[in-house]
Parts: sequence; C-alpha cells; structure tokens
Amino acid sequence: MKVEVITLFPAFVEQVITAGIPRKAVDTGALQFHARDLRDYSEGADRRVDDRPYGGGPGMVMEPGPLSDAITAAKAAIGSSAKVIAMSPQGVAMSQALMKQLSAEPGLILICGRYEGLDERVTPQIDLEVSLGDFVLSGGELAAMVLVDAVARLLPGVLGHEGSAEADSFSVGLLDHPHYTRPPVWRDAAVPEVLLSGDHAKIARWRLKQALGATFLKRPDLIEKLSLSGPHAELLREFLSERSGEKNQTSK
Ligand code: SAH
Repeated sequence: MKVEVITLFPAFVEQVITAGIPRKAVDTGALQFHARDLRDYSEGADRRVDDRPYGGGPGMVMEPGPLSDAITAAKAAIGSSAKVIAMSPQGVAMSQALMKQLSAEPGLILICGRYEGLDERVTPQIDLEVSLGDFVLSGGELAAMVLVDAVARLLPGVLGHEGSAEADSFSVGLLDHPHYTRPPVWRDAAVPEVLLSGDHAKIARWRLKQALGATFLKRPDLIEKLSLSGPHAELLREFLSERSGEKNQTSK
C-alpha cells in the first residue's frame, strides 16, 4: 500500500513510521509512506497556505489552491486511483471495519487540516471524510497517524502470525479474550488451568466464552448487534453463571 499524507507538519507525521508495527510495515515493503509538505505548494514566496475567512469571524482557512496542487502531486506519485481522505470531525467515525476496508486500497492520500479547516471548494477532490471521534483536534495529523497505524497492522504479512489480527477486538464483532503470560502464578493469581492444558479445542472454546463475556459486560451494544447463535448464547450463559458462582464464593 502507498500512503501520502498532506500536512503542514511532515516531520511530526513521519513519527508514526519510526516505531513498532508501522515501521515494520515500511521495512518489509508492505507500506510505502510519504509525508508531503503543503507549504511546498504555497502560491506566494512566504509559503503561506491559509487566509482569513470570507464573511468574517475568527481563525484562518486553508486555501484551496495549494491543497489541490498537493493532491495532484500525491496522485502523480502513487497513482490516480488512490483514495483521497480528509481528516475531519465531520467524517465517518474510525472503526475496525473501516480500517479493514481501507487496508485493501492500493493507495491512500490523507489530508490533515489545520486552523478552521479546508476551503469548501476542494470538496469535489475528496472521496471520504474520516473522523477520530466526536471531539475537535487542533489538526488532522494525529488522526492520520492513528489511521496509518491501524491500517498498517492489517496489511498482508505485517503481523508475525497471519491470524493474529483476526482475534483482535472488533474483528468478529466481539472484544478480544483475556491474555496471560509467564509466570504461571503471580501475586497469588494463577493463570486459568485450561490455558496450560495443551488441549487446543478446549482453549479455543474457553477463549470464545471469555470474549463473549467481556463483550457482554463491557460493550452490551456490540452483543445486541450480533444476535448470537444458539451455541454462542449457551457459552455466554455459561460465562455468566460461572461468574456469579465466583462472586458468591468471594462474598461468603
Ligand atoms: N472548524 C472545524 C474544525 C477544525 S479543526 C469544524 O468544527 O468542523 C482543524 C483540523 O483538525 C480539521 O480540518 C481536521 O483536519 C482536524 N480534526 C479536528 N478534529 C478532528 C477529528 N475529530 N477527526 C479527524 N480530524 C480532526
């Protein structure tokens, strides 16, 4: 996948590929990343890309000319089929489903706004607006970096174990199951017996049960959306009865 980020702060945005999985995605060639400095497309010698809003009011607006030229240059660099995404609090909310969908694109061009946002007339050049959540950031850079991180780990071959994104929270509409590592007993807390059993079918069943339980307790809205199958509903009942059993134990 080829990603271009259009920004006033290219050095800041590049931080996202300096560590962890996004860095690995670049090192292995799964991800090609470039931060494009919007100021290089300024129409004046002063490298300005913003101006006062028509109609008055506070703040500045990003001029359409430099943005449009930067999008054209980004498309020339990574292909005209690249999807142009403006980071915006007015966009569709980021979700694992959206990240999965975007990870199948050959190219993404991410536009980071600053100030009051973009001149409305660049809208025809934008395919999609994406939001990090219902709050207002001072710029689109952090949202773009979040998107790059979430997409990079879904690119083929990037995560060590091919299946390891599959069990992640949201991938199948459930939260992830709990994880344990050594030591087997830590401050009186033992790792659940079943995980030491070596019985893979039993372990898979236990993990699914815990995932159903965690989702029911923490995100009941997700469980409602799923309309659980008979066996899954049974596993969830089992989780809940074991849990109330444990609670009664501790209250005695
Ligand atoms: N006046 C605008 C906000 C401008 S904030 C409005 O109320 O809609 C400046 C820039 O920060 C935006 O252009 C956008 O690129 C980015 N931004 C702010 N909040 C964001 C969010 N929740 N998700 C993604 N980008 C955001």
